Amino acid sequence: MATTNASPELLIVMATGATPDQTEHVVARLQEAGADGRVSRGREVTFIGAIGERDMLAGLPLEGYPGVERVLPILKPYKLVARELAPDPTVIEVDGRKIGDGYFGLIAGPCTVEYREQTLETARAVADAGATMLRGGAFKPRTSPYTFQGLGVEALQLLREAGDETGLPVVTELMDPRHVEEVVEATDVIQIGARNSQNFLLLSEVGRADKPVLLKRGASTSVEELLMAAEYVAKEGNERIILCERGIKTFETATRYTLDLGAVAVLKNETHLPVIVDPSHAAGRRDLVLPLARAAAAVGADGIIVETHPQPEHALSDGPQQIPTSEFADFAAAVTAIVEVMGKRVG
Ligand code: PEP
Ligand code: MN
Repeated sequence: MATTNASPELLIVMATGATPDQTEHVVARLQEAGADGRVSRGREVTFIGAIGERDMLAGLPLEGYPGVERVLPILKPYKLVARELAPDPTVIEVDGRKIGDGYFGLIAGPCTVEYREQTLETARAVADAGATMLRGGAFKPRTSPYTFQGLGVEALQLLREAGDETGLPVVTELMDPRHVEEVVEATDVIQIGARNSQNFLLLSEVGRADKPVLLKRGASTSVEELLMAAEYVAKEGNERIILCERGIKTFETATRYTLDLGAVAVLKNETHLPVIVDPSHAAGRRDLVLPLARAAAAVGADGIIVETHPQPEHALSDGPQQIPTSEFADFAAAVTAIVEVMGKRVG
């Protein structure tokens, strides 16, 4: 068997029309040689990532096996998440809601779950407006230890109730490996926030969880570092990952962060994973959220995650950037128009 730290080093592209038996034969030969194969079946072709030491793999007569069309080295430091390793873009499907490859995810909800009515009212408003998932913070990463830190487990229950009532899958942040069980049980998608983008122990934990992961880019994390963070998750076996650009730190102070839409375009080239944008935290002010959301759709993002609150002026966190729920339907319609121009549909 491959050692635990071995990575896919070679990409074996099976010929169109290669049989499943031929694919299995290649994997069996890899295993006999002490390596392993990760099979990825696309609509038209099958890829096998050959996992093991590159020199040893290079010594195998892989190109001669029946059904093999060609063998290519995977040169990037990230492997499982590299675009080359998947024949088709990855689509993350949760309860029939899809993100990726033509499906645009519209994730919306409050920054923080504050109380039952606020959560239910927001969930109903975003569901009516066509949102595809409900977001809401239970455990909040706050810059100041003196501000509201979230309702914790109580918020998980409120989110679950709101998700069940509206039929929307729930997205919430996991901050602490000690909360993995509660969060994984309550939520449909596990969010890893910007501050934990390179918390490798937490990434490995969610890599062993049986729920999709929404992985945010850290404010000072490069595109390559984000992809390596995603690789930590994928390496543990969970390849259901949605990447999220949410703004980075620059010299600019006009916006809360600088939304790096160039990174979205780069990520779409580099990975088969869906890439979404958080215009709310990037902007920091509600009047900029719509233009940034439109720009995200236009640059090719696979979705957005947006904050909305029934009374932003009374919100316990991020009030200035939250869209009033009464305006959310108009917001959603304006974004959907761009999504459709891009030939996609809100999933
Ligand atoms: C959030 O989405 O609730 C959040 C805290 O965002 P970020 O991790 O991007 O700051
Ligand atoms: Mn927030």
